Amino acid sequence: MQVRLDEVARHFYATVMDLPTVTIPSVPIAGSSDRFPVRRIFCVGQNYADHAREMGSDPDRQPPFFFCKPADAIVPGGGDIPYPAHTADLHHEVELVLALKGGGSDIAAGDARALVFGVAVGIDLTRRDLQAAAKKAGRPWDMAKGFDLSAPITPIVAGAYPTSGAITLSIDGAVRQRGDLADMIWSPDEIIATLSTYVTLAPGDLIFTGTPAGVGPIRRGETVLAEIAGLPSLALRVG
Ligand code: MN
Repeated sequence: MQVRLDEVARHFYATVMDLPTVTIPSVPIAGSSDRFPVRRIFCVGQNYADHAREMGSDPDRQPPFFFCKPADAIVPGGGDIPYPAHTADLHHEVELVLALKGGGSDIAAGDARALVFGVAVGIDLTRRDLQAAAKKAGRPWDMAKGFDLSAPITPIVAGAYPTSGAITLSIDGAVRQRGDLADMIWSPDEIIATLSTYVTLAPGDLIFTGTPAGVGPIRRGETVLAEIAGLPSLALRVG
């Protein structure tokens, strides 16, 4: 048996240097014991007109823009998480999440649906005070959006691809966000097509598709409930 020298070297260094084992983040698949491995998390900004307006933008003139969270920002199933550091204004954004089983670049909108494994309900947790400071200073959003535990998500529903239906978020029973998936400025098909012109999409990628109006703070001890018609609901408590 022939063994390439670089493989021998890699094995040698892995043994000698005691390299760590890295775990790939994953999300449960509803009704299955399988899990969906997460490669990257992309997010769409201001994809509902009423939310764009509440953030001070003109929804008619803004093409879609994107930002990222690390894959291990996911919090499968929600539950209890600690209040994050470096913020006094943690905000909720309920969103439909697309889970890709295929990918590519320059994908036609008409081909997008076939690349989607399923969907989930997610919350794009945001350190709004850090985001406002970053916007003002022209700095990146990473620490406002891509912090630990910033992407709670339900199990993924395989085969689902809703384009309409109620999307709501309530805190301690009071509705804070209410919209309809049909109100997206850019549809899931168009989001996948546009995003694939910036990066080569791949199996395992998640896409958070934006949030309707009503974003606001989550206070310590409050229970957040994120819901999309026909999908599992997501409960979260920030302690
Ligand atoms: Mn968002």
